[in-house]
Amino acid sequence: MQTTENRPNVKSIDCDHYINGKYVQSGSGKSFENSNPATKEVLGNVQIGGEEEVDQAVKAARKALNGEWGKMPLKKRSNILRKIGDLIKERQEELAVLETLDTGKPLWLSNSVDIDRAANNFYFFADYMTTVGNESYQQDDTAIHYAVRKPVGVVGLINPWNLPLFLMTWKLAPALAAGNTAVMKPSEVTPMTATVLAQILTDAGVPDGVVNMVHGFGETGAALSSHDDVDAIAFTGETITGSAIMKAAAPTLKKLSFELGGKNPNVIFADADLDETIETTLKSSFVNQGEVCLCGARIYVERSIYDEFLEKFVEKTKGMKVGNPFDPDTNVGALVSEEHYNKVLKYLDIAKEEGGEFLIGGNAVDADKGYFVEPTIITGLGNDSRCVREEIFGPVVTVTPFDTEEEVLEQVNDTPYGLSASVWTSDVKRAARVSSQIEAGMVWVNTWFLRDLRTPFGGMKQSGLGREGGAHSFDFYSELTNVTLKL
Ligand code: NAD
Repeated sequence: MQTTENRPNVKSIDCDHYINGKYVQSGSGKSFENSNPATKEVLGNVQIGGEEEVDQAVKAARKALNGEWGKMPLKKRSNILRKIGDLIKERQEELAVLETLDTGKPLWLSNSVDIDRAANNFYFFADYMTTVGNESYQQDDTAIHYAVRKPVGVVGLINPWNLPLFLMTWKLAPALAAGNTAVMKPSEVTPMTATVLAQILTDAGVPDGVVNMVHGFGETGAALSSHDDVDAIAFTGETITGSAIMKAAAPTLKKLSFELGGKNPNVIFADADLDETIETTLKSSFVNQGEVCLCGARIYVERSIYDEFLEKFVEKTKGMKVGNPFDPDTNVGALVSEEHYNKVLKYLDIAKEEGGEFLIGGNAVDADKGYFVEPTIITGLGNDSRCVREEIFGPVVTVTPFDTEEEVLEQVNDTPYGLSASVWTSDVKRAARVSSQIEAGMVWVNTWFLRDLRTPFGGMKQSGLGREGGAHSFDFYSELTNVTLKL
């Protein structure tokens, strides 16, 4: 496997903090080496921010809120958001390469999902913000009540490594659209595209201090979550980290928005279009190395088509190419880090101990070069298996047969998670009946990952708190003052 072959000539970068419109290093002098998970090569140095840098970033954001940004006319702010989208598109190749170097994902995926959708997040909210109205009620001849919308203030945006620029901009665009200032804390595992984004924001006309960024590990995120002068935290990441942030944010009662882990089911009925189901199931299982919170890791198939489904699904999986993320034919790149690779391999051992049958995969690939794992399909595990219950977040799925709707719904809902699900059937009434009974924030019927940015996005149970998307994002990043005008 040649993981540097086909690599475009884009240099990896060192990652400094961005505070008050300038790249700066930590006062402590602390940094760590960032590495490419597909080659183990060192990509550069990343600063480790402590309480001091977080405090400087929050102070800059507070000052900027009270400055030009806070008074900027809506249209001008909207134009700046649009310009950010344009500049992301202009630097698309560079950003996509950096995303691939950091994450190990195929370059075509960085281009088509991460960077393209990052630009689109700004385009969407640039338009959306110009259409937002507020509630008003006429109370007979007595009074008019109307709501005045204001930004929440200084918001902390803490992000994971699986879709770095896409998820950071999914929070930053509505935060800016609603007039807030922000401190970004990208994942320590994938810091490069956020570092470039900081410069893009300034180039697009975002005034100094409006968006700041502090790099570092969990402690840096913790310093942001507990900072007295941060008004809200929007977080995407693991459920257990969400709990820690909630605790840290409790003393100052910050507003919280959480997008957390998932263990999403695909429910496939015998009357589904099998070829289409398998084509999409291949994506929902293995795209982005299975490192998408929405991946369908638990696949339930009606018994009458179980054997046929498995035969075809395994055959298609055999055709998936694992390897060099810069090869346009690669389907599955490297897992994001050594730590995550070891976690996924540990779950493969657990599956073996639990008596799982591996129909394909189950092994590391070219382990001395990078962190590659074969797409893996496991059967024979019950709903009490750790591999069925816990989030593996890798190219690993379990497949289980079912006989009745009631039985499969019971299994599907027997989980602490509730992020998303896919239902495959040609019976519209069944689609509606089953979808409404699944305990998940999002259910796709005969599709997967089809998004419209106006729709509510988020999870129930331990998969999240609140919703993002369109009005939901805008409401989170706004405060409302109700004014009652006596007539
Ligand atoms: P993570 O929780 O380990 O880290 C996410 C971010 O939180 C990082 O920036 C990290 O430095 C920071 N952090 C860690 N400890 C912290 C603390 N105590 N206080 C504040 N910040 C802290 O998650 P990850 O491993 O980077 O990402 C994978 C997880 O993200 C998976 O569970 C996945 O399901 C989830 N995810 C969810 C969604 C969604 O929309 N629901 C989307 C993408 C990823």
